[in-house]
Amino acid sequence: FRLNIEGLLVYFPYDYIYPEQYSYMLELKRTLDAKGHGVLEMPSGTGKTISLLSLIVAYQRAFPLEVTKLIYCSRTVPEIEKVVEELRKLMEFYSKETGENHNFLALALSSRKNLCIHPEVHTSLRFGKEVDGKCHSLTASYIRAQRHSNPNQPECRFYEEFDAVGRQVPLPAGIYNLDDLKDFGRRKGWCPYYLARYSTMSASTP
Ligand code: SF4
Repeated sequence: FRLNIEGLLVYFPYDYIYPEQYSYMLELKRTLDAKGHGVLEMPSGTGKTISLLSLIVAYQRAFPLEVTKLIYCSRTVPEIEKVVEELRKLMEFYSKETGENHNFLALALSSRKNLCIHPEVHTSLRFGKEVDGKCHSLTASYIRAQRHSNPNQPECRFYEEFDAVGRQVPLPAGIYNLDDLKDFGRRKGWCPYYLARYSTMSASTP
């Protein structure tokens, strides 16, 4: 349903809102209005994530120049994936209610271990640091420079393709979890890890 929070129209994709969620959104809006910093606490399981996303997206739509990007950090991959799914639900609700297709880009960014699609690198190595090291041994600039004199030097074709083509083509608007990024990377032949890192620079709602 829709809420009016001190004059801000907020779309909220659930049929019920807890009073704590309303208070959270109200304080968040006041923080944004004041252009200040905020420390807000809410117990787990009370719908913090959707409250935060609903308020920020509403604020961004109302004041696109003031909020250009939201960076949401979380400790674990399941938590990151949950945030992406909540955002997907919210944007579907927007489309249903407004009939508009939003030019919105959101993506999950995680380590190489969780985004690598190189068949040998991501399957043969079990630990994150090993994936980082192996990736580095294929993509570091000094290694790539050596390839001019030694074409047999191994490479990651997903990195090379991303570097040659992917940097010029923005990731299409949409909401991408880690699997979505890997699917997209496989279809294009681009490294999803470097694509995600690069795309966070342009992720925003116009
Ligand atoms: S560039 Fe990407 S796909 Fe290639 S090894 Fe590194 S993380 Fe894996």
